[in-house]
Amino acid sequence: MCGVFGVFNSRKATEITYMGLHAIQSRATEYAGIVSSDGHNLFRLVGPGIVQDVFSQADLDQLRGLSAVGHIRYSTVEDNPKCDNAQPLVGPFGDNEIAIAHNGNIINCSHLRGMLKHPDRLKTNIDTEIVLRLICESKEEDTVKRIYGVLRHIRGTYSLIIMYNDVMIAVRDPWGNRPLSLGRKDQSWYLSSENIAFENLFIETVREIDPGEIVVITKAGLQSHYFDENSLSNESINHQRAFCKFELLYYSNPGSVVFGQSVAKFQLDAGTILWQEHPVPEADIVVGVPDSAMFHAQGYAQAGQKVSHNLSLARGLLRSHFIGRTFIQPNQWLRDLMVSKKFAPIRYLVEDKIVVLIDDSIVRLTTMPGVVKLLRWVGARQVHGRIVTPMIMYPCLYGIDTPSHSELSAARLSKDKMMTDAGLDSLEFLSLSGLMSLVPNSNDFCYACMTNNYSISSH
Ligand code: AMP
Repeated sequence: MCGVFGVFNSRKATEITYMGLHAIQSRATEYAGIVSSDGHNLFRLVGPGIVQDVFSQADLDQLRGLSAVGHIRYSTVEDNPKCDNAQPLVGPFGDNEIAIAHNGNIINCSHLRGMLKHPDRLKTNIDTEIVLRLICESKEEDTVKRIYGVLRHIRGTYSLIIMYNDVMIAVRDPWGNRPLSLGRKDQSWYLSSENIAFENLFIETVREIDPGEIVVITKAGLQSHYFDENSLSNESINHQRAFCKFELLYYSNPGSVVFGQSVAKFQLDAGTILWQEHPVPEADIVVGVPDSAMFHAQGYAQAGQKVSHNLSLARGLLRSHFIGRTFIQPNQWLRDLMVSKKFAPIRYLVEDKIVVLIDDSIVRLTTMPGVVKLLRWVGARQVHGRIVTPMIMYPCLYGIDTPSHSELSAARLSKDKMMTDAGLDSLEFLSLSGLMSLVPNSNDFCYACMTNNYSISSH
């Protein structure tokens, strides 16, 4: 999973891109990169690590121009140390260069690679470079047709920011699987995977880029085109949607609006439904696994307090903000301690209490056993696990880093076995119908990781 950010026509383009990437940093932490444009030339700087560590002020000063595109990367393919898999990528485009930043996952790479005249020129092992090379190799004169000529062959998911000369282009795949928002302040336009970055930077959120929309941004203004696998049009095209549910459940910042939904509201409501489906009336406190399950826990506690008057929301676990990288060799002993590195229990709040422990999801079943052990260590009398996502039994092909089938605990273990392995007194998950009831347009969402129904196919 990744994050993208773009600034068009601002004297502070590079600095704002830096700030924007920082605001969405929770989406990805492995690499960061910025490419700027002075209208003719592109300037690129990328590196491993978080935005704050990759760029110095001196670096930003070298990235000249009024427009910039940024990217943060969380790899879903293995990063070969010899390949520079950081984005944005840059390639030749007429007499100049073009930059591309991508969030999503393309699933027909071998087919696309076969369309390249010079596949030997690929320098990385990431899907985005194939798209870039196809755009560069195209002889089509009209830029929108040139880009569409490549997009129509892509299967999978993509939110893209493309930049050359003094043009910036935003694209969202016809399924709308990954988010992308448009912002405006004075004479400048902004693009971001999540509009929390706009809120942070006092930029007005204009709207989300539509699924299957190509927005061309120039000094003359905005021009929209719409497309799917079969056609390019000036009017919006009716295409099946597959918005990623995980963006709302876990991935996006609660301050963002994603797929037309406030993430905070979605998570609060998800907690409410979870209480309605799986209450623990005898509980004393509700504890969310920080930071990702705090809103769900609040929703659960607020719903519970209406019938269970002694129930309170308690910050019984804290999360360290200084985790950084672990340089010691990973082994089981260290993996077990990773949870202790991340979380600290608050004995004063937890001791002698019946606890409902809320987490947004169970993937490999690493976090739950670790935090239950911590809560029991500080004296919890009982710990009941309540999970806001139905059981995740199938891998995501579209960009969320849920592991292979065999690594997903819910694919291997029964609910009871997961409960005992985690050391819980009870364990319940939100139902699929409960999850679907949270949005009016539930058929527009992808549930593949819960149902095995992969609507976006590689053909
Ligand atoms: P696990 O510990 O493997 O069961 O993963 C569940 C925990 O990791 C939850 O606390 C989630 O907030 C978090 N999580 C869920 N999905 C992902 C993901 N794709 N990548 C990283 N962390 C995740």
